[in-house]
Amino acid sequence: MSLKIVKFGGSSLADAEHFRKVYEIVKAEPERRYVIPSAPGKRFDGDTKVTDMLYSCYGLASEGEPFDEEFAAIEKRFTDIIDDLGLDLDLSREFAKIRSAFENAAGRDYAASRGEYLNGIILANYLGYDFVDAAKCVRFNENGTFNLDFTIEKTAEHLSHHQTGVIPGFYGKMPNDTIKTFSRGGSDITGSLVARAVNADLYENWTDVNGFLVADPRIVHNPEGIEEITYKELRELSYMGATVLHEDAIFPVSQVGIPINIRNTNDPSQAGTMIVRDASGNKAAHHVTGIAGKKGFSIINVEKSLMNGEVGFIRRLLEVIESLEISIEHIPSGIDTVSIVVEQSAVLGREQEIIDAVTKGVNASHVTIDHDVAVIAVVGRGMIRAAGTAARVFKAVAAENINLRMIDQGSSEISIIIGVAQNSFEDTMKSIYNEFFRK
Ligand code: ASP
Repeated sequence: MSLKIVKFGGSSLADAEHFRKVYEIVKAEPERRYVIPSAPGKRFDGDTKVTDMLYSCYGLASEGEPFDEEFAAIEKRFTDIIDDLGLDLDLSREFAKIRSAFENAAGRDYAASRGEYLNGIILANYLGYDFVDAAKCVRFNENGTFNLDFTIEKTAEHLSHHQTGVIPGFYGKMPNDTIKTFSRGGSDITGSLVARAVNADLYENWTDVNGFLVADPRIVHNPEGIEEITYKELRELSYMGATVLHEDAIFPVSQVGIPINIRNTNDPSQAGTMIVRDASGNKAAHHVTGIAGKKGFSIINVEKSLMNGEVGFIRRLLEVIESLEISIEHIPSGIDTVSIVVEQSAVLGREQEIIDAVTKGVNASHVTIDHDVAVIAVVGRGMIRAAGTAARVFKAVAAENINLRMIDQGSSEISIIIGVAQNSFEDTMKSIYNEFFRK
């Protein structure tokens, strides 16, 4: 029988009504044997996620302030679910333990992790699955990165004793036995690690959207969904701001080629987005898989005659930028010019210092800095085969009278990256979308 890991995000477990949907989904397929829950998320606009409630409650406790009211509100989020579902489960001893740990400075990560921990106990009880504490399975290194080998070995060993199980997301243990969490949204990573440990056939990641969309729906009206995307394409899009899945969740499963399926808990009839190593080939009908972008960049333009004949020029230039402690996003170059795209926040107010350092460091003839640039990535594995994709991007943008400030095609040929003035960002996104998807 094939084996599926199912991870549910906070919005999928925000209240009893969502727990019921989760129950139906898990029970619909016997292959769904291991479940990774997040902490209860927002139930309505303006609501607070349990993780955020835990952070602020622990903040009060660690400053010696009273936190009864805040703690009671957290307890209520969980007891409401238990009562609504009519479960025979009493968490009062758990709450007492957590409260005293708050008083004894157990740490911010410990505090935040209790959202997933308690939700895991409730979900295991409701599903009739075993509860397996992630602290026994997920390990971090001394430096805070996760210990992949140890985690895989421990998780595989523990789960071999459980036919079915609920393993809370988001946290694990440090070598000194304290609890540590991943960064926000990190339950996605736990799901990926568990999928890898048990060599699952599929990692299903259930959330509150139908999967990835070709473009941000706040910019492009009603964009198409992405049926299939490769790990590499997703990496490019996530870097450019497409969120749905935690970036670090891709690598544990991508190494061994376990596909990830993004699904919607509120609409399980939708197939969602499949994230795969090798695309099936026939689905890249548009050549472009997705379009994503971000505002807030600056470009440092460096000009020097006969630059291309000067051995070591780029290295010296990068050394100057490094010495200024500025991290580089892209480096498109021409014959006698190089543009360095950086985050605006890293250079704002330091313009003269940067211009002087670069001018002196590489003997540049002219250095300027342009602010308020938006960078857009047009991503698609189909671009390698299809001639003319870049031309179509440029034509679409030119038709809107938008000036391209930068063009960069990654050597992988799965993305074309362009820079435009920030106030043209939305129009640029729309024009590219229309060119490839509305014809
Ligand atoms: N509950 C954590 C957060 O809100 C982790 C997660 O949901 O994945 O970030």
